Amino acid sequence: MPHSLRSVIPRARRAKAALLASAVSGCLIAASAPAPAVPLGLGDPLFPTLGNPGYDVRSYDLAFTYSGSNDKPLSAVTTIRARATERLERINLDFTHGTVQSVDVNGTPAAFTGAGEDLVITPEVPLPRGGALRITVRHTSDPRPATGTEGGWVRTEDGLAMANQADAAHLVFPCNDHPSDKAMFTFRVTAPDGYTVVANGVPAGTEHTGRGTTWTYRTKHPMATELAQVSIGRSAVLHRRGPHGLPVRDVVPAEDRALLEPWLAKTPQQIAWLEKKVGPFPFEAYGLLIARAQTGFELETQTLSLFEKGVFTQPAYPAWYVESLMVHELSHQWFGDSVSPRTWSDLWLNEGHATWYESLYAEETAQRPMETRMKAAYGLSDRWRATGGPPAAPRPPKPGRKISLFRPSVYDGAALVLYALRQEIGAPAFERLERAWVAVHRDGTATTADFRRLASGIAGRDLSGFFRAWLYGEKTPPMPGHPDWKSDPPQASETAR
Ligand SMILES: [Zn+2]
Repeated sequence: MPHSLRSVIPRARRAKAALLASAVSGCLIAASAPAPAVPLGLGDPLFPTLGNPGYDVRSYDLAFTYSGSNDKPLSAVTTIRARATERLERINLDFTHGTVQSVDVNGTPAAFTGAGEDLVITPEVPLPRGGALRITVRHTSDPRPATGTEGGWVRTEDGLAMANQADAAHLVFPCNDHPSDKAMFTFRVTAPDGYTVVANGVPAGTEHTGRGTTWTYRTKHPMATELAQVSIGRSAVLHRRGPHGLPVRDVVPAEDRALLEPWLAKTPQQIAWLEKKVGPFPFEAYGLLIARAQTGFELETQTLSLFEKGVFTQPAYPAWYVESLMVHELSHQWFGDSVSPRTWSDLWLNEGHATWYESLYAEETAQRPMETRMKAAYGLSDRWRATGGPPAAPRPPKPGRKISLFRPSVYDGAALVLYALRQEIGAPAFERLERAWVAVHRDGTATTADFRRLASGIAGRDLSGFFRAWLYGEKTPPMPGHPDWKSDPPQASETAR
């Protein structure tokens, strides 16, 4: 997401963590009784109960039936293929904000119950470690906003889109809702005639039925749940070619097609520019999904980035700025999508790089020097660190308060770390590092420590001290090559915890 617009607000998840803590201690007391159904998590530093242990998802097959009204629940069938990584008496999926009608495990009906934001499934027989799992959940998927949360389905003027980052995919479908467990996706969406459906990946057929048309899409690369996208609307789909024949397809409100075309025509050249910087585009297709909706953010959903129409029609936004937003979401396809964060504390690797290329593009195409922007960021960096935490140790959202994880510290604050790194190791080594990073970790997940190790290897010296100070320090270290740069001290209100 870009930093420059109102940011997305992830939900506070503390209540669930507290519930988990009390349920776990209860479990220790009554050790001989059957284990109670409790919400589990992967222990993410920011979202401890997101995701679930004990299995590795290979694929999701998501079927949705849309009625034509975006304030009614969709009927849905989610089929998950996974492998058990330990013996499982219970399987926890993340799912809330929908009604579950039935669950099958490997073809046999299974008992299920809700616990916190988990759907806890008890198969008829425990599953052996290493065993294959096919879980089928029949459920509803509610596009109306859940109380106290944002994200999941986005209701547009003419249908629906999705915005699941960071922790909202499980408001839409049952899943292992953490970017460390990427999987292949198939979408089968049935909508009344007159609607167009597009999802991540590439089309795999349409079928006309009594209820309308079923549109099928498949990803050719693994994807995190937070990056899933389904667009249902009165849309036009515009096709063009990117570099080396890459399919570029944009999804826009049919009536806005001519208005948006001049912007859409810029994408192939932006892809070519980024390919020159970091290497081949990592996926099977790209394009913009432009929605008539007010989300307050843009989102790098894999192969199909979500934008609000207003970005392109607001006279207040200069052209260079709109283009830099396009490049921001495009660069996430490499940084954040193809290479996903192992935990949400690694978010700076997504947003820092997207901000870096956004800024570099503005420097190279619109005479907006990176150095000016970075000097300004340096001036604010200590204040950002005081309010949001240092780039690689962002503070979690506070319970009950709509504080976003998507703060300046992980945008320009993290791009500033990359600027310092380029100053420290020199531009040629920095550029080699960037290309190597997206090549080595393509279609995978990676950590801050992975980045430090790769950078040290390429620079030919141990950069642990550099990264410790820049990524985890309360104070911004001196900028290499710019000893005169100063960072303003935090205000009293910014240091209050
Ligand atoms: Zn971003």
